[in-house]
Amino acid sequence: MKGCFLRYKNLFFYFSFFTFIFLGGCATVPRAGGVFPYPTISMHDQAYFALLPMCEVEGIKWDYDPLSKVLILKKEKVDLRLLVGSAAISDAGTIKKLSGPIDIKNSVIYAPTGLRGIITPPVCKFPEKKAVSDLYLRSVDSVIVDAGHGGKDPGAIGKQGLKEKDVVLDVAQRVRQELARCGLEADTTRSSDVFIPLPGRSQEANEKKADLFVSIHANANRSRWIEGFEIYYLTESVDDDARALAAAENAPLEIEDSNLHTRWLSLKAMLWDLVYTENRKESIELAHFIGRAVCKKMGLKLLGVKGAPFAVLKGARMPAVLVEIGYISNRDGERKLRDTQYRQAMAEAIAGGIMDFKNYCEGKR
Ligand SMILES: [Zn+2]
Repeated sequence: MKGCFLRYKNLFFYFSFFTFIFLGGCATVPRAGGVFPYPTISMHDQAYFALLPMCEVEGIKWDYDPLSKVLILKKEKVDLRLLVGSAAISDAGTIKKLSGPIDIKNSVIYAPTGLRGIITPPVCKFPEKKAVSDLYLRSVDSVIVDAGHGGKDPGAIGKQGLKEKDVVLDVAQRVRQELARCGLEADTTRSSDVFIPLPGRSQEANEKKADLFVSIHANANRSRWIEGFEIYYLTESVDDDARALAAAENAPLEIEDSNLHTRWLSLKAMLWDLVYTENRKESIELAHFIGRAVCKKMGLKLLGVKGAPFAVLKGARMPAVLVEIGYISNRDGERKLRDTQYRQAMAEAIAGGIMDFKNYCEGKR
């Protein structure tokens, strides 16, 4: 009889959990404005989040024994043991204390939000200060992350219907969250599906006096077999492929009001020399740092760090790069870009590259 009850209890637990994941599909989308990327509820006078749905999103293996109430979480260097009802946890053998006990509500396991910092430490490392870099930029405290396209401009569209504007909005918000977790002042040019004229994007970065401008895009090519990622900095002289890509990414200029376009062209003449020479070295370094971080974390093929005349980068009065996170025109590329876990990993890799660049500028590596 006892065994029968336990089996039933187990079934009930798994049923509730998967129902939660199913219903909670959209709940993993980060809330605009908040740094904590999962929905929270109030328990024990503080913010708690559902632990196992987060594990599913972030690829953490878990094992829960309802008899002993012990939950084991494992991923690479993560080896945590938690006990429902207790605030003490074992982190690879070291006992740590949470701000509140692990708890169960409606068959869902909840933990204080502070636990996420132990499971997935932010990508930033702040090593000791070494030699000063040869860059003009001496510190990086704020970043504007530009989510490409939006509204009436969908950007590239995959064969299965995935739109570039939707993917890059999600990835840009995840990059912002990761940078904020590292203590940087980070913002995105858009937090919803709206059209923003290209010059208006860097203008916000200029007004906020941001230190860096990073524009996120997904690429497309008529040759559907091409896959990989690329990073661009601003330049006028380019190869044919880069010129063709710039023409595609600059297309929204055509659908903007023509007055603005004319104003933009004259502004370009004024600022071009100044901006181009002042930030070029930093932009190229930033592009390389992001490229190395994405290669290392994602095992992706870096198709190149290249120069191209992107309109969105031209107005930025700070080091600026454009990251093409993958090819939406490639079947495998589209499948990966649709995956939440992949987007999170990509965002962490980009943020990690920005943090590496920050440490380099500040003479810490
Ligand atoms: Zn684009």
